[in-house]
Amino acid sequence: MSDNQGPKRFQTPKGVHDILPKDHEYHTFIKKVVRHRCRQAGFKRITTPIFEFTDVFKRSIGDETDIVSKEMYTFEDKKGRSLTLKPESTAGVVRAYIQNNMQEWPQPVELYYIEPHFRYDRPQKGRYRQFWQIGLELIGESDPALDAQCIQLAHLINKDLGIADRFELQLNTIGTPEARAEYSQVLSDYYVGKDRSLCEDCLRRRDKNPLRLLDCKAEDCQILADLAPKMSDYLDKESVEFHEELKSYLDEMGIEYKENERLVRGLDYYSKTVFEFWDKHEGAQNAIGGGGRYDGLVELLGGNPTPAVGYAAGIERMIANMKISKVRVPSKDNLHVFVAQLGTEAKKKCLPLIQDLREAGIKTMGALGKGAIKNQLRLADKHGVPWTVLIGITEVRDGTAIIRNMEKGTQETVPMEKVVSTLKKKIGAKNLDTYSPGELLYS
Ligand code: AMP
Repeated sequence: MSDNQGPKRFQTPKGVHDILPKDHEYHTFIKKVVRHRCRQAGFKRITTPIFEFTDVFKRSIGDETDIVSKEMYTFEDKKGRSLTLKPESTAGVVRAYIQNNMQEWPQPVELYYIEPHFRYDRPQKGRYRQFWQIGLELIGESDPALDAQCIQLAHLINKDLGIADRFELQLNTIGTPEARAEYSQVLSDYYVGKDRSLCEDCLRRRDKNPLRLLDCKAEDCQILADLAPKMSDYLDKESVEFHEELKSYLDEMGIEYKENERLVRGLDYYSKTVFEFWDKHEGAQNAIGGGGRYDGLVELLGGNPTPAVGYAAGIERMIANMKISKVRVPSKDNLHVFVAQLGTEAKKKCLPLIQDLREAGIKTMGALGKGAIKNQLRLADKHGVPWTVLIGITEVRDGTAIIRNMEKGTQETVPMEKVVSTLKKKIGAKNLDTYSPGELLYS
């Protein structure tokens, strides 16, 4: 179709977005915090592929969950194999644990990830079709002290990001699979004859996953959930003791929590501990993250029975909350120096100077096009640089350069060979962006 207005301008598909430089400053900061806290606690980083065989997710997350029944990006490859973009990472990490014989490693194996995920969700505030999560997995041991450590690490990360006080830790236990099966039956029976009050989703979930009816957000479903039989009346002794012990550890560490019997989490694979960090004002709707124990998952994916606990939190929501709380992150992209020049001879002097400045850790941009000095200075202003170096015909002849303080509008002339050392002093050693590839390699 011909179009007088020129070629079509593309937009991102619904629910996905570019991460522009300003937001990358937040991403960088969050990654730093997560890496630092995880390293301190002995966690190692893992990255699983962006796509896995669809069955990895179907088998672990469960057919009846929203994720598997409606939200997966599933496609066939050229050989007709069904693959899915990962909607979460626990299933892939557990697949990797089994595939790489991690049961031979010292247990528990403690891993963390920082990864993009994909869900065909209805896009809205804080809910996208591609989003980033940080996550923790502690695989290979069943002890409430591990659940406590997982929650503590999640809490510390929120604290370091300056957003911990915006969230409330909601805590529950959903017992062993046996206890849950009995309770599920009781719940199913309770919901019989209540079709007219249930939303479409709950009607669908009632027979296969009745626990999910407890955390439905629809008003009528919530009223029914309030009156439903309580999980605590059906819990097994082991789970109750496990939960009491976990709470005593959290108390010991001074981590506040709110017990919430209706918290069940959306995925099938949880057992015993489940927890979420809810927004104090908006509740579950804008939870920053959640997790729990998944003692049966390794076996479900073909490994030996292996207990585990994990947590995942959304980076976009972290950033949104940091912005609300006016948390400012370091802006490492800011330039120190702009080099302006006039004429071909000056340009010849500028190119090596720019490189020398950069080697010294001074973030430098050069105006190497043909613009007039006035325009170059305007550009320097737009970049917000504190210093500009000017080299014109006179400076080339004299072997000098002008250093201009952009804020004050003052300037001084210095010998060419002193430009780098003078600027280093002005910028200050702690602000320089130095790096030595050798150091990076061997540190
Ligand atoms: P989940 O894996 O569903 O328990 O989600 C854990 C956290 O990931 C949530 O609390 C959110 O912070 C984030 N998250 C989950 N789904 C999305 C989404 N569609 N868009 C943005 N963030 C999400």
